Amino acid sequence: MSSIKVENLTKVFKKGRTEIKAVDNISIKIDNGTSFGVLGPSGHGKSTFLRLIAGLEEPTSGYIYFDDELVSEPHRVILGPEKRGIAMVFQNWALYPNMKVFDNIAFPLKLAKVPRDKIEKKVREVAEELGLTNVLDRYPKELSGGQMQRTAIARALVKDPKVLLLDEPFSNLDAQIRESARALVRKIQRERKLTTIIVSHDPADIFAIANKAGVIVNGKFAQIGAPIEIYDMPATDLIAKLTGEINLIHAKVIENNAIIGNLKIPLNFKLDNLQEVIIGLRPDDIMLSERPLDRYVDVGVVKVKLVSYGAGIFKIVVSPISNEEIDIIIDSEEPLEIGTETHLLVKMGKIKVFDVN
Ligand code: ADP
Repeated sequence: MSSIKVENLTKVFKKGRTEIKAVDNISIKIDNGTSFGVLGPSGHGKSTFLRLIAGLEEPTSGYIYFDDELVSEPHRVILGPEKRGIAMVFQNWALYPNMKVFDNIAFPLKLAKVPRDKIEKKVREVAEELGLTNVLDRYPKELSGGQMQRTAIARALVKDPKVLLLDEPFSNLDAQIRESARALVRKIQRERKLTTIIVSHDPADIFAIANKAGVIVNGKFAQIGAPIEIYDMPATDLIAKLTGEINLIHAKVIENNAIIGNLKIPLNFKLDNLQEVIIGLRPDDIMLSERPLDRYVDVGVVKVKLVSYGAGIFKIVVSPISNEEIDIIIDSEEPLEIGTETHLLVKMGKIKVFDVN
């Protein structure tokens, strides 16, 4: 297992006369045996960051260390990908179609000229760990999506890597299998204490696997912390949106309340009167009720505009009664009649306040 240290890492791509700073002066340490998640919008440098760590790209400036060994320096990959003890799993698994599962998994060991009996033993061990023992004789086209992905993971693990790098590993899976695939990777990461970096645009991937996460925006980490911290206390409205569903509503501050039409949301810190802010409310932090509830603040009356059902939960869209232009989405276990007027309750301590950009 390795720790990874990145110092002032920058990668600039030149396209004709334009320069794209894909990674912009990143410094970070990922401890031995931990899992780190990189979240961010498409095109903001996630894959480039991972490829730099893999040794597939040279830094424009900055340094990368595995444990205390310098592996990349400006314009030079000192230790190549094959010498870093890394294994990578990509979105498109890249299995060899003409090889059976066994040979796909065995491939890295064959390349490394490992003796045949040792290969046999190792492949069977990893296949057992990943539940592939019954399909070792099949070709990739005879596998389900989940089995293909597990074969790709098995091939990554067969050489006992020190570091596992995952780039959007679950994007090609059906929603149903995605959940169990995440659980499997998490289990392997924890059991093997494998230093892991996972890159994804989907917060659920990151939250399922990472001990710690960073949100990359424009090639820089905009926020780093425990996943729950980033979800609950996003530093900006953009990070709030990237980490999950959220209502972002413009409000004006009057006497320490954020005012949205007839709604009055108490703020527990001092802001200037009449300052404009953006209030962030996660759909699962708010509810509708006629009566007051413990640990919730009644912020005023709203009217139900739309109700839809999906995945075990009703999505209810309401508006302040004073302003039907503003939509607020609420997760609810029960439906309500359209047109109903009722109270909007907000969980204490869950109100997010952002600067207007
Ligand atoms: P993400 O993984 O977040 O989608 P990438 O790291 O793939 O983002 O890309 C970051 C930026 O760098 C994008 O603007 C992309 O077009 C650019 N980029 C990535 N790889 C190359 C390359 N090999 N040549 C030129 N530009 C690249």
